[in-house]
Amino acid sequence: MKFEIIDVDGLGRLGKIRVNNREMTTPNLFPVVHPFNNSVSILELEKIGAQCIFTNSFILYQNENLREKVRKEGIHNHLNFNGIVATDSGAFQQYFYDNQQFSIDSETIEKFQEDIESDFPVILDLPVQINDDYYTAKEKVNLTIKRAKENIVRRKSEKANWIGPIHGGIYTDLLSKSAIEMSKLDFAIYALGGLVKMFLDYRFELPVKMLLTVKKNITPNKPIHMFGLGLPQFFSLAVACGCDLMDSAAYILYAKENRYFTLSTGTKNLNELEEFPCNCPICSNYTPNDLKEFDKDLRIKLLAKHNLYVSFSELKTIRQSIREGNLWELVEQRVRCHPNLVNALRMIKDDRSFFEKYEKVYKNHGRLYSSEESLYRPLIFRYHKKLINTYRVPKEVLYLLILPELDLKGKNSPSIINWLNKLDRNAIINRQEIHIVFSSYIYGIVPIELIDTFPLGQYESIEFNNSNSLLNNNYKLIIEQYFKKNFSKYHKCAILIPDFYLDQYKQKIKFSEHNVINSLKSIISPFYKSNLAVFKEIDSVLNFFKGDE
Ligand SMILES: [Zn+2]
Repeated sequence: MKFEIIDVDGLGRLGKIRVNNREMTTPNLFPVVHPFNNSVSILELEKIGAQCIFTNSFILYQNENLREKVRKEGIHNHLNFNGIVATDSGAFQQYFYDNQQFSIDSETIEKFQEDIESDFPVILDLPVQINDDYYTAKEKVNLTIKRAKENIVRRKSEKANWIGPIHGGIYTDLLSKSAIEMSKLDFAIYALGGLVKMFLDYRFELPVKMLLTVKKNITPNKPIHMFGLGLPQFFSLAVACGCDLMDSAAYILYAKENRYFTLSTGTKNLNELEEFPCNCPICSNYTPNDLKEFDKDLRIKLLAKHNLYVSFSELKTIRQSIREGNLWELVEQRVRCHPNLVNALRMIKDDRSFFEKYEKVYKNHGRLYSSEESLYRPLIFRYHKKLINTYRVPKEVLYLLILPELDLKGKNSPSIINWLNKLDRNAIINRQEIHIVFSSYIYGIVPIELIDTFPLGQYESIEFNNSNSLLNNNYKLIIEQYFKKNFSKYHKCAILIPDFYLDQYKQKIKFSEHNVINSLKSIISPFYKSNLAVFKEIDSVLNFFKGDE
C-alpha cells in the first residue's frame, strides 16, 4: 500500500491510497455492505461514488455454501466490485452483541481474509466498550496487541494490507499504550474502535478526545481510520482532528428507521418532511409522500441512497475545503447542527499547541472568523505565540497609539486612512517615534507594519460583543502579555476611541460601545500611571504625546 499526502489543513489530510492496483482518495468512507444481501446494490454504490467498501468476512465464512466459492473467485469477483475492499473479522458482532455463537479463532478468520484477497483485512481484535471497567479494558488492549504480534508472524499474502485496531475506550493511558505499541508493529492502516455506542448517543466529545490521544501517539505516515463513523455532520470535525478513513452502515441502518440525513439540521424522520431539502437523484425524483406510499423495501433503498449521496457529497466538500485551506471554516458551520458537536469542537482548545505544529505557514485565501470557536484556531494561537516570543517593537519608537479595528482593516478603511494622513502630516511629533498598533477582536494586538502579512491581512470577522467572556479572556491575556514585555519601549500610550467612523460605504457610523477596545484602558493601566489616556481625535493624541517634551 502507498499512502501519498497531497495537501493538509488542520490535522486533515487530502491523500491517495494505492493498493493492489486500485486507488482511492482520502478522506473517504467505506460503506459497510452485507456480503450477499444488500438493499442498495454494489453497482449502485459504485455509481453513487464509493471507491471502497467494507464487508464482513465472518458472515461469509459461516455460510458453508459461499465459503469455498469466495475462496476460489476472490472477494472482488464475488461482490462484483472493482474498487478497494476491506473486510472485518467478526469481532464487532462477537463483542457488540455479546453473542458467543459468533465464536471464531484469529488464525482461521485471518487466513480466510487472506484467501479471499481482501485488500484491507482486520485482525480479530477485542473492542473496548464504553461500559467496560478499567481492568476489562486493559485485558482487551493487551490481548489485541498480543494478537497483532501473532498476526504478523502468520502473514502469508502480500496482497493483504492489514488494519491494526487501536483500543482503550475512555481510558486515555490505555489508548496511548495501544497506539504506541501498535505503532511499533507494521500495519497499513491504524483504526480506532469502540466508538459506535458513542455515535449512537451523540457523545461526540469522546471520539474527538480519543482520536486526538491516538494522533499524538501514532506513527504519522499511516492513515487513521475510525470504525463505525457514518454521521456526515461529524465528518468534517473528525477529519480536522486527523481521521483519514471511516466505515459505517449508518446509511442503511438509519434508512430502516425512516431517517434521512441532512447537514443543516441533522437527521430527520421521513414523517417530518413535507419537502426534501436536497437535490440528489432520489430527492429530485420523489417527494416524501411518494416514499411513504412505497413498500418498505423500496423506501429503505431510496432513503439509503439519499443518505449515501449526502455522505459522499460531504466528503467532496471536505476534500475541497482542505485544498482551499478552509477546513476550520467548514467545521465551524457543520457543528452548528447539534450542540454536542459544538462542545466537541471546543475541546480542541486544550490541544492548540498540538494542532499548531501541523498548521500551514501560509494559505492563499483570507480567513473568515464567524463564530466564537474561531478563536480556537491554531493559526491564532501561532500568531499570539509569535507576537509574544519573537516580535520586536521598532527601535526609534517613543509613543504608542492604539487604533480600533473597523469594518475594513488597515489602509482599506476610509477613517483609518484619514487618521494615518493626519499623523503623517503632523508638525508636532516626529512620525517615526509613533508606533501604531490595532486593537483586534481576534488577534489582540496587530502592529501596523505587519498588517499586510498572513494571517493578519484580508480577514473578516463577526463583531464580537465585549460581554463575551471567551473573547474577553482571550483579548485580556494577549494584551497583558504584550505590555508585560513591551511597556518600557513606550513613554506614553494613547488609545483612540472615536464617536463616529466611516464604514466601507463611506457612511458615518456610531462607534460601538461594545467594541472590545473600550476595555483596553483598564487592562493596560497597571503598566502606565499618568502616561496613558483615551482620546476621540488624533489632534488630542498628538498634544498628549507632545506634553512629554
Ligand atoms: Zn437527497
